[in-house]
Amino acid sequence: MNINDLTLPLKGSCHCGSVKFEVNSKLKDLRRCNCSICSRKGFVMSTASSDELKIISGETYLNKYQWNTEIAEHYFCSKCGINTHHKRRSDPKQYGYNIACIEGFEMSWIKDAPYVDNTKMSVIKKNKVK
Ligand SMILES: [Zn+2]
Repeated sequence: MNINDLTLPLKGSCHCGSVKFEVNSKLKDLRRCNCSICSRKGFVMSTASSDELKIISGETYLNKYQWNTEIAEHYFCSKCGINTHHKRRSDPKQYGYNIACIEGFEMSWIKDAPYVDNTKMSVIKKNKVK
């Protein structure tokens, strides 16, 4: 079995199983990101359009974290703390999601994932007007 054998929709969940989601596209565009939040989360993410990723259950358990420009929306389970997905600042019509949450996925399949250099996205605007 390898990464292309996962059947659609991909089924994802947080650790405690409260949050379940489905993705109607193959794992693709795998990446790590070195912005200040992703470098702390450390997971490899895949890409889905906002039409392709659906929360199936547990939406009430999802907490949203925002910072800096507050365009990106980082979602995590309020019960177990696992980051499941986020709406991207670079393209808010896209989600990045945590591939380690996908059922049947084996971490050993990923020998290496390229990283995108988003350090400049980590700059906090000093003169932010509320
Ligand atoms: Zn959970």
